[in-house]
Amino acid sequence: MRLDKFLADMQLGSRKEVKVLIKKGLIQVDGQVVRIDKTQIDETKAQVTFDGEVIAYQKYFYYMLNKPAGVISATVDNYEETVVDLLADEDFREDLFPVGRLDKDTEGFLLLSNDGALAHRILSPKHHVEKEYYAQVKGLLTEDDVTAFGQGLVIDGGEETLPAQLTIVAVDEAAGTSEMRLILHEGKFHQVKRMVQAVGKEVTYLQRIRMGQVPLDPELALGAYRPLTAAEVKALE
Ligand code: URA
Repeated sequence: MRLDKFLADMQLGSRKEVKVLIKKGLIQVDGQVVRIDKTQIDETKAQVTFDGEVIAYQKYFYYMLNKPAGVISATVDNYEETVVDLLADEDFREDLFPVGRLDKDTEGFLLLSNDGALAHRILSPKHHVEKEYYAQVKGLLTEDDVTAFGQGLVIDGGEETLPAQLTIVAVDEAAGTSEMRLILHEGKFHQVKRMVQAVGKEVTYLQRIRMGQVPLDPELALGAYRPLTAAEVKALE
């Protein structure tokens, strides 16, 4: 890998900024100052230092994004803003992609990574990592709905869902609305909305609040993101 790409990938700065650091003689590779930005290094073995500090090699990156409504879960799109566009400071990382999808109008926890193997594990039906959602609903949820969700539902098109754990958070009889949490063990297209529709109600707001054992960080504003901690990555494996 080129030295300037390595430094940019390890988040020392943009490609332009790290070229300046290299030219200034602030970067050493295996104890030698290197002033040529296109020097090839073996990123898994070389000891690269900046101003005496070791730049550890990291191959995979994981970010928790608090997705706002109005952006689509894709990497690039000619017309619409994508979740990858929101990671503006990570522009140099062209390999990031969303792990799974949230609808355009859904908010909450979306994982972005360049780790294809982890994405595969998280999304494969065999390992399927559970996900929890919070929803606001038009209509009054009942204990019968809780039972029906718990047994698995037939949704539109005749698809059957696995049992899912519905918790009624609030019911406002006067307004004719409810709030709920739902734990899913699979990821069918529009699944939460279609399950709610199957019991005669309608989702008016949807937010993913947890993936596996990792909750959405309450400190993250809508549209903000942060790297996952090592413990969080482990919890998703
Ligand atoms: N279920 C839905 O209906 N929409 C989502 O975005 C996620 C789960």
